[in-house]
Amino acid sequence: MALKPIIKRLSEWNMPVDKKFLIAGPCSVESEEQVMRTAMQLSAYEVTLLRGGVWKPRTRPGSFEGVGVKGLMWLKQAGNAAGLPVATEAARPTHVEECLKAGVDVLWIGARTTTSPFAVQEIADALRGVDIPVMIKNPMNPDIELWIGAIERINKAGITRIMAVHRGFSTYRESLYRNQPIWRIPIELRRRLPHLPLICDPSHICGKQRYVMAVAQQAIDFLFDGLMIEVHCAPRAALSDAKQQMTPAQYGRLISKLRYVSSSVPTQLPEAIKLLRREIDAIDNDLIALLAQRMECVRKIGSWKRKNNISLFQPERWEYILEDRTRSSVRRHLAESFVRDLFEHIHEEALNIQGRMPTERSNTPRRRKAEAVHG
Ligand code: PEP
Ligand code: MN
Repeated sequence: MALKPIIKRLSEWNMPVDKKFLIAGPCSVESEEQVMRTAMQLSAYEVTLLRGGVWKPRTRPGSFEGVGVKGLMWLKQAGNAAGLPVATEAARPTHVEECLKAGVDVLWIGARTTTSPFAVQEIADALRGVDIPVMIKNPMNPDIELWIGAIERINKAGITRIMAVHRGFSTYRESLYRNQPIWRIPIELRRRLPHLPLICDPSHICGKQRYVMAVAQQAIDFLFDGLMIEVHCAPRAALSDAKQQMTPAQYGRLISKLRYVSSSVPTQLPEAIKLLRREIDAIDNDLIALLAQRMECVRKIGSWKRKNNISLFQPERWEYILEDRTRSSVRRHLAESFVRDLFEHIHEEALNIQGRMPTERSNTPRRRKAEAVHG
């Protein structure tokens, strides 16, 4: 039986990493001068890897789609001048070939590509027999299986230096951020693949430069192994993602302000913390008991709806619940979006429960007649 390729820990990557794996550089390589200036200014700060996209996947046609293959040479020159290895996005087998030819040190698979198993498989096939690190961004939609599937495809091609990049998920809802972080997904990825290096891309989560610091710190607090941050020598003039990019000096400030945390808790927990944890355990049990009680009511209402041929979904009632629960969440200082999400889940489960309930035989004359005909 063929041995399963392993995924290497970050310490086995043969790349000098200090506290965290820090990737910085422009969203797109725009010109020889722009990437060189950015890289040289960045070299004053702690950076592990210089990033820059040369093929840009754009949602709508007509926007800047990257400078293409010549950008690889500019990126590589800038990396050499700043003493940094370089990374770019590869979305097709031809991109992989061009990157290998140009000596790009690390590749990444973008969020739109991770969403498509066909595209990921083609890239995996192009990578067979090559020893290069590959970073895999989460898919656009919050589907952990799709993310793991892409990691497995690349790993099966023999790539052992793989890193997952959390860049948030697109949603239908208006929100503060461009992409929702939905932290439970990268946290679950970490639980399922504990040795897989995992970093965060706060720039694409935030969509705005002013939010990047807070999300970067959150990722560090959640024990991510590093960050990918978009940095441009003149962000306002950037040809893509202008609002979320920061200057090298701003990047330097961000890195110096990061508070590093340790995962280990003291073997002897303070008494107060032990008590609080016990309280949380008890509250969680109560929450589960209350949910079970709520669903019991849901079942009773469901059987009444079935008997009376009433639709399971009642828009007015749902509207009332949402409004009422979010209003009380504000009074209790809970984030409105959290309570809304919670009740959307609860309501969906209630409808599922009612949907699985058998339709009771009605005694209307029409039904009796039909039953007599069909036996
Ligand atoms: C990028 O890193 O510039 C990029 C396009 O990212 P994503 O695939 O996360 O949208
Ligand atoms: Mn970008």
